[in-house]
Amino acid sequence: MSADHRALTATEPSQLWQAALEFLRLRVSREGFETWLTPTRARALHEDTVEVEVPNSFFADWLSQHYAADVRAALATVAGTDLKVAFRPRDAVQGRIRPAFGSTARPPTGGGQTRLQPRYSFETFVVGDSNSLAHAAARSVAENPGSSYSPMFIYGGVGLGKTHLLQAIGNHRLAARNGAKVYYAAAETVFIELIQAIERNTRIEFKNKYRALDILLLDDVHYLVGKERLQEEIFHIFNHLHDSGAQVVFTSDRPPRDIPTLEERLVSRLGSGLVVDIQPPDIETRMAILRRRAAVERIDLPEDVCYHIASRIKTNVRALEGSLVRLLAITSLQAHPLTVELAEAAMDGLVAPERPLDAGRILEQVATHYGMTATALCSEKRTKQLALARQTAMYLMRSILNLSLKEIGQHCGNRDHTTVMHALDKLDQLKALDRAYADVLRALTAKITGGNGG
Ligand code: ADP
Ligand code: MG
Repeated sequence: MSADHRALTATEPSQLWQAALEFLRLRVSREGFETWLTPTRARALHEDTVEVEVPNSFFADWLSQHYAADVRAALATVAGTDLKVAFRPRDAVQGRIRPAFGSTARPPTGGGQTRLQPRYSFETFVVGDSNSLAHAAARSVAENPGSSYSPMFIYGGVGLGKTHLLQAIGNHRLAARNGAKVYYAAAETVFIELIQAIERNTRIEFKNKYRALDILLLDDVHYLVGKERLQEEIFHIFNHLHDSGAQVVFTSDRPPRDIPTLEERLVSRLGSGLVVDIQPPDIETRMAILRRRAAVERIDLPEDVCYHIASRIKTNVRALEGSLVRLLAITSLQAHPLTVELAEAAMDGLVAPERPLDAGRILEQVATHYGMTATALCSEKRTKQLALARQTAMYLMRSILNLSLKEIGQHCGNRDHTTVMHALDKLDQLKALDRAYADVLRALTAKITGGNGG
């Protein structure tokens, strides 16, 4: 065992994993993070392997196949040395060992799994001008579900507290009425459940589970883009719940009407109740959020360090907290005092451009926008949705990076330059004819070129 590894075994695996998660949060897609990484817990650190507990073997396989490299990179960054990771399914763990996860352990939730995390409560949510309307509406829904505010739709940028408010509604409700049937899911989770239900022939159970709910909290519905089957199921689930007086709350990174290719009837359902937005917080709110988080972690956060972090990270509360967590990891791993200089160092990895703006990033952003993977986008498949996404990526590679037709073709699954030329012509026309599509192009361009952190 190297000296590095020996030094590490003295640190808490949960703390190390938490720091790695904060790092990963900014590097993998939001849906991917919430679905696959949020439900993980560090269990132990043996030699140079971090053992991470995951809900079941499906998760273990998925994480190994899709996230192993990212996870190793994150661990190497926060630990300062190479570490391996082993994903251990919880079903295989339970009964043998009772994991002690300290404050991150989930309390047993009455009757069935709600997927709620207790740390997302109204009490821990800092209210400022940017989020006061969303906060007030969420509270009102939590106290009086199924009344005039159903459905409620919360939208806003990445890391501004949508998931926090959504889960706070659920936690509040469960505390107020024990046994309330509350269920939180990211749209991507519902998608996976649906696929599994189709494969295992358990569609009825799938439907019944949703129809029995008192409150459905559906996170990140922009993920529904391009998934017609999923839209269909959600449409029916929503109608059923609405008719039975249940409360539904949706979140998204944009308002219902701006989610492209969403079926019109679903758009009108999503926006038929109360629609509220969350804006990026001002500096006072950002400092208050940091202070609260520091208090939760029981650390003394000097005011100058707090101000320094809050003034540098403006548009994403998650990045704000991420730099604090990372700072704590560094101070405790290396026994440094908490100073502005150290804060600066901790933020570097988070705030500096994470990656150069290249074709790969365009592929990723376009894929995320259309709710697919970059691999699918470059594949041979020719569905309408894939073709549009692919052409969009080609178009942006041309307009943003000014790549040659040949280069663009190579980045998009080795396509011929005439194919690229044809795509560019076609999109020029589409852009002129279809205003909604022109908006999508503009939004994507802004997102890709607009830097990171927001
Ligand atoms: P979103 O779902 O909008 O991307 P999250 O709800 O996941 O964002 O928030 C990101 C992180 O920032 C979470 O840890 C959350 O608790 C925290 N956060 C966001 N807004 C606030 C706030 N107003 N007060 C306290 N914490 C916040
Ligand atoms: Mg979220």
